[in-house]
Formats: sequence, structure tokens, C-alpha cells
Amino acid sequence: MLDAFRHDYPDRSPGGFFRELAACGSCGSLVPPFGFETDGAYLAGLHPDECDEGFHFWCSPETSPFRILKGWGRLLDAIPHGLQRIPRIALGRMGLAPYDIPFSVLPFMDARRKGNPFDRCRYPSETFFDMIRREGGKWIYLGAPVSSCSARRIHRELRAGLPSDLDLVFLMIGDLDPVGHAFGPRSSQLEKRLAEVEETIKDIFRLLRKKYGRVKAAIFGDHGMTGVRRHIDIKGALESARSRPPRDYLFFLDSTVARFWFFNECARAEVTDILGGLTGGRIISGRQKEDYRINYAHCRFGELMFWADEGGLIFPNFYQSGTPVAAMHGYRSEAVEDRAAFIFYDSEQRLSSLAKNPARTVEMFPAIVSMLGLEAGIRAGH
Ligand SMILES: [Zn+2]
Repeated sequence: MLDAFRHDYPDRSPGGFFRELAACGSCGSLVPPFGFETDGAYLAGLHPDECDEGFHFWCSPETSPFRILKGWGRLLDAIPHGLQRIPRIALGRMGLAPYDIPFSVLPFMDARRKGNPFDRCRYPSETFFDMIRREGGKWIYLGAPVSSCSARRIHRELRAGLPSDLDLVFLMIGDLDPVGHAFGPRSSQLEKRLAEVEETIKDIFRLLRKKYGRVKAAIFGDHGMTGVRRHIDIKGALESARSRPPRDYLFFLDSTVARFWFFNECARAEVTDILGGLTGGRIISGRQKEDYRINYAHCRFGELMFWADEGGLIFPNFYQSGTPVAAMHGYRSEAVEDRAAFIFYDSEQRLSSLAKNPARTVEMFPAIVSMLGLEAGIRAGH
């Protein structure tokens, strides 16, 4: 899994290796699921509302590791921005990074998911790790969040030793996402990093072919990368309201989605009105919740969400308060730049193309399961 492996990167293939694999295998683009945390789609074939995924943070004051800040938030928020680094570093050492989330909001928030992608019973149905485990097989997992997600370091670790009986090598390579965000998907910096990652994957391939003979591969991104064309200042717009957070309502600003929880109806009406007047995005409708499979059985991700149009960045937001990024992901499905790439390859046979192009990320799961020669099985309660 190459974080932010955009749909056009295999075609751009600076060293020609991605193109070579795609020519003998099958290649296409993927429409990513809603949101920013989307592992359940390819690990278990689940939609966001089936596995409660979408955002890193959700509203959970009873479990928040930051609940010790309750009552101190406004005082800490008044500290000059530069000096806030000190309490933020201290809080991060407790296990969960507070990013740029206001101190008054932190006591309400917790990470939706902790642990590792291969953990037992992580999802309501089996992941391909669960299936391999059930069959008594073996895998290696390298990359975030277990180890460094740099392609070069992963290659070095693989070179240090591989067991002879292995069913799956899962690599979560994270080099492309930060460069895409910082400089944009068409920048020279991205081009250079793409070339390096491609070269390293080619070396990893050579290593695996030498060790195991036959190698099947699924190389794919979790999303693409869309150039930012405008900023939406939601924080500024809300300042005109008489309702105040966190007394009357609560908000969380992700890069492309603003999420709200209300403590009284007056705040709900006022905020809804302000959001309705903003250009560059829309409140997510009931119909869209159905379409994107985000009809969660709870409001922990937000009672109301505002979604930026393609190329819009909510700024400032709770991840970037200083310098805005050049590119972002997390837009509606018609945003072509947001699509990821996939390449399937088998060193022993030519592959036919996936039936649909673009496919959806959830369709990666049955494809990977079939490459592994496993059978998708047990749903809930395994
Ligand atoms: Zn990203």
C-alpha cells in the first residue's frame, strides 16, 4: 500500500518499472472511500459505516486521553501559538498526538482506532490477516504504524532476512503522501520521490523473486492527491455567531470536512445558517450519507458535516494552522485527482483486467483474497 499513490503515477513511472508491471498485469484507478481513515475498505472490504471508520478523531469525552484538560482549555488556548508547542509535545508523549486541536476541544476527543491493522478482530468481519491466521499461514508487516514507512528502510529490513515460508509481505509505504501535500502532485519534488520509491520497489521485487520464485503483487494507493485551489475559513465565519464553543456547540476542522456537535437548538440553527451561506462547500445531505455509506449508528463523527468542494481546503484547520498545504485528499467521488492507482501482477501469468475501471477501494479486498488463494468467510462474531 503506497500512501497517496495517485491514479496517474503508474503512467508517469519515471523509471519505467510501474509501467512494465502494469503492461503484464492489470492496472486502473480506484475511487477512495469517504474520509481519511479508510483501511477497513481494503483490509476487510467494509464501507465506512460498516466498520466505523472515516476520521482519526471522534467525539468520546468518556475515553479521551485529554480529559485531564477539562476546565483548563480556554486558559491554554490563550497562550501565544508558538508557546503552545510545549504543552502539545507533553500531551503527545502520553500516546496520542494533539496536532493543532484547540485545548478546549481536546477533552472531548479520542482516536477512533488504536493498535495495528493486523490485530485480531479489528473489524466486524475478517481481514486478510485474520484469514491467513485462520489457515495457519504467515505474514510480514512492515511500515506504519509498526515501523518506519520509508521505502528505503523497509527494503533494508527485508534484506536483513526473510523466512522461507511466507504467504504475504504487506508493506505500508508512506513516502509519497507528505511530499504530495507539501509540494503538489505535479511538482519536481514529487517526481523525484516517485522515482526513488519506484526504484526501491523494483529492488524489493528482485529480492522477493530471488527468494521465493513466484511473486504476485497488488500495488495500490489509498487515495490520490488534489491540488488546493481555494481556502475556506470556517473558523473565521463562526466568529460572527452568538453561540460559542464549547458552551453551545463543538466543532472539529479536518482538512476537507468540518464536523459539528450541538448542545442546544439555537446553536444548531445559527451554525447551519452560517454554513449554508459559505461558498466552496456544502452540508452533507441525507442522500449523500446513503451514497457514501456514512450512515453511522452514532454521532461520534459529528451530528452535522460540511464538505469542501474539490480543491477547497478548510484553513485554518486542526492539522495545519501555520502553513497551508499545496494539495489535499478527501473530496467527493467525482474528484478525479483524488483517485488512487492499482496494479496487479503475477510473475507466472498474465492477468485480465478488473471488471470495472475505476473500481472502488472496497473491491481491492476480494481481489487480494483471491490472489492469496483464500476464501472470504466469516462475517461478524469471528
Ligand atoms: Zn495525506
